[in-house]
Amino acid sequence: MARAYNFSPGPAALPEVVLRQAQADMLEWGDAGASIVEISHRGPEFMQVAAQTEADVRTLLAVPDDYAVLFVPGGATTQQALIPLNFAEAGQVVDYVVTGHWGKTALKQLTPALRLNVAASSEADGFRSIPARDDWQLTRDAAYVHITANETIHGVEYRPAWGNPAPDTRDVPLVADFSSSIASEPIDLSRYGVVYAGAQKNLGPVGITVVIVRRDLLERAGQPRAHMFDYTAQLQNDSMLNTPPTWNWYLLGLTVRWMLDEGGTSEFDRRSNEKSRLLYDAIDASGGFYRNDVDPRVRSRMNVPFFLHDESRNDAFLSGAREAGLIGLKGHRVLGGMRASIYNAMPVAGVQALVDFMKEFRDSHG
Ligand SMILES: *Cc1c(COP(=O)(O)O)cnc(C)c1O
Repeated sequence: MARAYNFSPGPAALPEVVLRQAQADMLEWGDAGASIVEISHRGPEFMQVAAQTEADVRTLLAVPDDYAVLFVPGGATTQQALIPLNFAEAGQVVDYVVTGHWGKTALKQLTPALRLNVAASSEADGFRSIPARDDWQLTRDAAYVHITANETIHGVEYRPAWGNPAPDTRDVPLVADFSSSIASEPIDLSRYGVVYAGAQKNLGPVGITVVIVRRDLLERAGQPRAHMFDYTAQLQNDSMLNTPPTWNWYLLGLTVRWMLDEGGTSEFDRRSNEKSRLLYDAIDASGGFYRNDVDPRVRSRMNVPFFLHDESRNDAFLSGAREAGLIGLKGHRVLGGMRASIYNAMPVAGVQALVDFMKEFRDSHG
């Protein structure tokens, strides 16, 4: 099979130019005399990659100077465990707004030393909406408020009606899991205390996570934690407290550079609008053959879950899609059905191909 349009949720599609560059660099990197994966992370070649990657991330995301950028090993889930350790003291209240699977996962990472307040949850309606900001029960002296900017499985994203770019949490720092929507639009980072994103959706390969943190928050005592779990120690050691995942870091750097070359976050904002509109319009105009249940005001532009009216045709849909060169469409086991993840690396043409296939499938099975 040739390279297909890949709608996988993560690990996800990478731009072909990035993969080709990586293929070339796999054998020999510049004048290093070895592959990028074979050289020391502390050598001048890799240090240059690391520095350029940080500079490019700062440009792409317009990171203010009073924010640190960390490149840490592990996934977003790891940060869900480290964030409370670093930013909340024992006995403090932490506020969480739960709008889907990943918001719930974050709760599981909290230690008993903290007092959890679920300030709002849309679980009762099957995570098809986002609770209105006026209905959030925030705690005045909470250590932080945690939200999930885009729920990758449920397909729910904070959109303008919800105070996008960020809900107002007054003086309490806002911590946001941006794993599946980072760099899909310009965001005003100054509205956030911490933004974190596992790389394998929009930023590159799995195994590395970008954490952007307002520097003053790093002065907080937090809870007792191992040195390896200390964000300040990571910052003081250039995110190299131990051997970092150099290959992933380098690939992330290539992907970020590609996004800059393509026109940056405002261009991906435009494309995300176009791609998601194409797909939701096709679903909504299918006369009920396809269905998406999310409140249209908070429908995700990155992950579009949908269901066939006749679920007995799911396998036929997936195998037909595969034959049409469209892969990765099977829904998450939590929800079933289908899901099309249309991150930055997915071209408009890929979504058009999916929409064409969906129409064809409906015409022959309707
Ligand atoms: C994928 C994802 C995660 C989990 O990432 P891991 O790398 O598996 O830890 C967390 N939050 C969101 C929003 C995600 O999309």
